[in-house]
This record gives sequence, structure tokens and C-alpha cells, in this order.
Amino acid sequence: MNNRQLEYYEKVRRKLKLGPFFTPKHKLVFEIMKILWNEEEIKILSYFENADKLISLQKLAEKSDTPKNEIKKILARSVRIGTVSKIGNKYGLEPLTPGVFEKYYIIRKDSKKNQIKLARLFREYINEVVSLQMVESNFKIFRPVLPYEAKEKLININKSIVISESQVLPYELVEFLINKNDIFATIPCYCRTIGEYSRDPCKVASHEIGCLYGGDAAKYFLNMGVGRKMTKKEAIEHIKKAEKAGLVHTTVADHSLTSTLFICNCCSCHCVLLHPTKKYRLKTVNPSNFVAKIDKDLCILCEACLKKCQMDAIFHQWANEPDLSDEHIFIREEFCIGCGVCALNCPNNAIKMEKVRDNDFSKIVKFGNKPLFELFI
Ligand code: SF4
Ligand code: SF4
Repeated sequence: MNNRQLEYYEKVRRKLKLGPFFTPKHKLVFEIMKILWNEEEIKILSYFENADKLISLQKLAEKSDTPKNEIKKILARSVRIGTVSKIGNKYGLEPLTPGVFEKYYIIRKDSKKNQIKLARLFREYINEVVSLQMVESNFKIFRPVLPYEAKEKLININKSIVISESQVLPYELVEFLINKNDIFATIPCYCRTIGEYSRDPCKVASHEIGCLYGGDAAKYFLNMGVGRKMTKKEAIEHIKKAEKAGLVHTTVADHSLTSTLFICNCCSCHCVLLHPTKKYRLKTVNPSNFVAKIDKDLCILCEACLKKCQMDAIFHQWANEPDLSDEHIFIREEFCIGCGVCALNCPNNAIKMEKVRDNDFSKIVKFGNKPLFELFI
């Protein structure tokens, strides 16, 4: 590859920026870009606008001095595999993640060989580069949603704090988010897919317990021929299977999704956001408004909660007293993200989720011209 071609990759890299998400100058980025876009494609992409703007085919033809038909032909592969957006006659770029990575592994239309090669590179990029970007920016785009039966079984309100709104808000419950939709689709988890492709599979769950989409988002993917259609009953079974396995339901931090549903089912070993939260003991997701509390009288010390907690926030304190009366399980609340997985999996109902904050997630988060959610579809 000559210097001129390298310049095209660098020019495009600088355009892969949306709001606080940028694509850093790192050797892994160039290795990824060279598989995503060949030399002919990257040259046309270098005439694109920055990731927050679309460019028309006409304008692209003028800027690149290339006939429109030829541009269409050159970009057809990128549009098909999801590495370039196309809306009508306009084209656009997105950051590597969130953006290209998610769409590429949702659509999965590139060759298997490329998907496997990219899996190893994306895994390394996410662990070594994106994780640190999340820590540095302190930007939290996701939040956990409480498990399906949380409302009936788990909620215990701390009366000592002032809660201004109703004590459990509907959008904090996966049950509410599912029940307001009628059409559903599941898409294999892209984070665990790249783990499996790079021979570092998740031990908590396979990629098949993937994200759940409902409403307009489900229709969008099903129309594209992507994802598996589900009835409401199947969607509920899917979500319960995820929480039994120990996966955390997460969604975008705002609750602006009025006509759609998007729930990721995340592990902390592969998820772009939970991984740094656990690794660096810094919250790169918004915690929910709840924390887990253990009732020592009900706890039978079985460690089921400890094994399921994705944040490693639960510990076993072994006894000092001869009668073992001081042995107990405890939670370090500063590491707890309030996902409710421990409470759901406790066989003796010894864990309650207690409301300790009153954070309002009603603000609509936008990056450039895009609502947060659109970066994931
Ligand atoms: S799962 Fe429940 S009973 Fe078992 S150790 Fe945890 S809190 Fe105690
Ligand atoms: S301790 Fe907190 S982070 Fe861990 S499973 Fe329970 S609610 Fe989730």
C-alpha cells in the first residue's frame, strides 16, 4: 500500500466521529479499516462528510470527479455489509463503535473469512482501546433494566430517602418495555459472536441469547431479512432465559424509545460497556436507581448470587467464630450497577432491590444528527 492510499485511510478515520465518539489513531484501527474497505472504496469514502452528515450521490460525483453509476457500483458492497449507511440517494459514515461494528455483525453479509479476521481485531480494539476511551470520557450511554419478575418479587423501597416520582418507573422494568410492544425480533449478540469467532467464547452464555428488539426496530430488521421473529410469549421466555444465565438487561440511557424496544443481554467478559465497568471498577454504564441488599436471616450461603453477579460485587466472608455465626455473604454497593440478576437467581428470596437514587433518564440523548438508539440499528 502506497502513501497516497494510507492518506485515504487516515482521512476517513478522522471523519469517523460523532459527538463524543471518535475513532482513535491506533494501529488496530487501520488494520480493521483495511478489511472493512478496500482501496477503491476508501478513496470514494475520503470524499464523504463527517459521520454526522450525509452526502448526496450527485455531490459525491462532483467532489470525486467520478460518474454516479461507478460510485454506486463501488459502494454497493459497503452498503450491503453495513459499513456505509445509505438513506435514499444519500450516503454516510459512522464511528467504528458504536456504529460500524454493531451493524456489520448484525447484518453479517461479508465473507466468513473477513468476519473471523475482524472478530479478533475488534475484540482486541474493544478491550484495549475502546474500554479506555469509555473510562476517559466518563460518558455513560447504557443503563440496566430490572429482570422480568422484579416488580412483584424484588422491590423493596428504602423509606429513608425522598423519591420524587413514582417509586418504580415503568421504563426501569423489562416487563413494561416488553408489554408495550407486539412484534419482536432477536439478533445474535455481536459481542459474544466475536468472542466465539476469536476462540475466546463467553462462559456465561452463547451469542444466541442475543439482543431483543420490539416495535419499529423489530420491523426494521425483519424487513431487512435480519433476526428471528418472536411472539410476545417467546420474547418473555428469551428474556427470562437470559436473566437465569446471569446476563444483564441493558438499554440506552434515555427512555425516548416510544415506539420501539431495544434490550441487550450483556455479560461483563464481552460487552463493550460492562467489561470496563468490571475491569477498572469504574461505572461506564449508568447504574439503575436500585442496589441489591441481602437479608442475612434468609441467606443460606449458597453463593448462587456471587457466581451470577457480572460485576463481582458480591463476596463470601468466612467465619471466625467456632459456631460459624459470623459467616456471611455481602455486597459492595459501590460496585453494584443495580441489575437485579442476583435477586432473581437467589433460591431463598434473600435479596431485595432497594431504590436508592432517583435519576431521571428522560432526557433524549443525541449525537450529531442521530438519537443514541440509531447508532445500534
Ligand atoms: S443466592 Fe441468596 S441464599 Fe444464596 S448466597 Fe446469595 S443471598 Fe444467600
Ligand atoms: S450485586 Fe448488583 S451488580 Fe451484582 S448482580 Fe446484584 S444487582 Fe447486579
